[in-house]
Amino acid sequence: GEFRLSDFDRLSVLGRGNGGTVHKVSHRRTSALYALKIIHRGHPGADEEVDVVRRVDSPYIVRCHSVLPTASGDSALLLELMDGGSLDSLVRGGQGGFPEEALAEVAAQALSGLAYLRARRVVHRDIKPANLLVNRAGQVKIADFGIAEVVSRAGKYRAAYEGTAAYMSPERFDTERSLHGDGDEEGPVDPYAADVWGLGVTVLELLMGRYPLLPAGQELTWAALMCAVCFRELPALADGAASPGLRGFVAACLQKDHRKRASVGELLVHPFVAGRDVAASRRALREAIEQRCR
Ligand code: ATP
Ligand code: MG
Repeated sequence: GEFRLSDFDRLSVLGRGNGGTVHKVSHRRTSALYALKIIHRGHPGADEEVDVVRRVDSPYIVRCHSVLPTASGDSALLLELMDGGSLDSLVRGGQGGFPEEALAEVAAQALSGLAYLRARRVVHRDIKPANLLVNRAGQVKIADFGIAEVVSRAGKYRAAYEGTAAYMSPERFDTERSLHGDGDEEGPVDPYAADVWGLGVTVLELLMGRYPLLPAGQELTWAALMCAVCFRELPALADGAASPGLRGFVAACLQKDHRKRASVGELLVHPFVAGRDVAASRRALREAIEQRCR
């Protein structure tokens, strides 16, 4: 390839996860900035992640310029740098939730990314604020294909969910329970519906400024999450906390029955998304990012 690991200086750590560490790096000759994600050899899903990032190329997905081998046998993904960081870090930076206009733009761009993935038969499986990255230009892109799957090859969910259960859909909980002998099997599930659920939780979290499916301060244990997601009514938004359009959008994403949940295609034409004032939404999102990046 055109890049070697030795061409880069490591400037800082952008994030750490299960799979490895993400560094901000500078290409010495051109001074161009990138994110370098090191995935440790033998980490479950390392090969799948490399496979998937090689398959995708969209303005709504964090671009991978190159996959570089390391001396220790780890893989290093040279990624487009998203200089606004993750929506998770922005929402945790305080200042409460995002304005609705900005959320319509987040939803529109994330859905465009999911539509692209759907067309390539990729299920992301880990849609959450930490895996949606933004830049100062106001772009939102899907990142982290650490537990993604290509449907034609697998067709069925992998047993272990390596991420947090906080963004896991009801049918995913059911699959896990039936694998352990309880829970009921109800025939095949639509694997793409789980990503729509994750987007619904994400939009609600960005609106409320905190994790939305459990009361503030409650620990996100597997049992508490399963109870809330599978059996309890979703939390009601206070009067005036959201427009009818946003309420309808979130309700369509958070249908517990995956067969009734809206598809990516349906959500792209939902009034909350399709009816937004595009210029005003983009501006609102850019401003929200800029405010929170300071
Ligand atoms: P896994 O979920 O498989 O354990 P991970 O969470 O370790 O993976 P990522 O989600 O890809 O890996 O990256 C972790 C964090 O690093 C992100 O939440 C984000 O804050 C930061 N990050 C990752 N990629 C980029 C990028 N291209 N630009 C800026 N920041 C990034
Ligand atoms: Mg991640």
